[in-house]
Amino acid sequence: MALTDPVAGSFAGKRLFIHEENKLQFGYTTADFNSRDLKHLFPARPLLFLKQVHSARIVSDAEWRVGSEADGLLLERPGMVAVIQTADCLPLFFCDDSRRRGGILHVGWRGLQQGIEEKLIARLGKELGDFSFFLGPAIEKSCYEVGEELLGLFAEKSYGERIFSPVRPGKYSLDIRSGLELSLLSAGVAAERISGCGLCTYCSRGLFPSFRRDGGSGRRIFNFLLLKGNGPAGA
Ligand SMILES: [Zn+2]
Repeated sequence: MALTDPVAGSFAGKRLFIHEENKLQFGYTTADFNSRDLKHLFPARPLLFLKQVHSARIVSDAEWRVGSEADGLLLERPGMVAVIQTADCLPLFFCDDSRRRGGILHVGWRGLQQGIEEKLIARLGKELGDFSFFLGPAIEKSCYEVGEELLGLFAEKSYGERIFSPVRPGKYSLDIRSGLELSLLSAGVAAERISGCGLCTYCSRGLFPSFRRDGGSGRRIFNFLLLKGNGPAGA
C-alpha cells in the first residue's frame, strides 16, 4: 500500500498539502503557516516537536521529551502529531500498511551522511517490507550546489558519488533525494513503495520557504504525520 501524494488544500485561508485516509493523515504546510496555525489545525492533539540538530537520532513517541535532540520521530501509538521542520532539507514520511507505526525523518546532507535512514531501517527490522515511504518537498539537485569536500564524506556509501554531479570547478550538485531512494532500495524496499512530491523548495518561491534562497528568514515548512485510532470513533 503506497502512500499517495498529499493534495493542495487550505485551512483558515492558508495553503497546505494534506493526505487524509481512515487511519492516517500527513502532509506539509506552505510559507503561509506558522506554528500557531499548526496548533489550530490539530486542536487537542499533542504536537511532538524536536530540537533538530542534523543528527541520525530517531526517537519514538514513548521516548520523546520536550526538547529532545533528534531528527526523526517514530510514532507507535495513535493520536499524536509528529512534526519535522524543514526549509530545503528533505522530510521523509513513512508508514506501515496497518497504519500503526509511522513517522518523519529530517534529512539534510549531514543526516544522509550519518545514515539516519539506515538507523530507521535497522529499527524497523523485519517489518521493513510493510512500510511505504514518501519524499516531501526539498531542494532539488539542480538548485543545490556544494563544495567538493563533501564527496569524500560519502565515499563509504553504497550509492557513493552517484549523487554528485560536477557543475563548475570545485563545485558539485548534490541529489539528496536520489541518495535516499538508492539507500532504501539497497536495503530491500520495493520501488513501488517509494514515492514523492517532486517539489523543489528553492524553485517554489511564494509557496515554500527555502533557506538557500531566503537566508535566515526563520520560516519553515511544518511536516506532520498523525496515526488515527483504529476504532470507529477514532483516537
Ligand atoms: Zn529548484
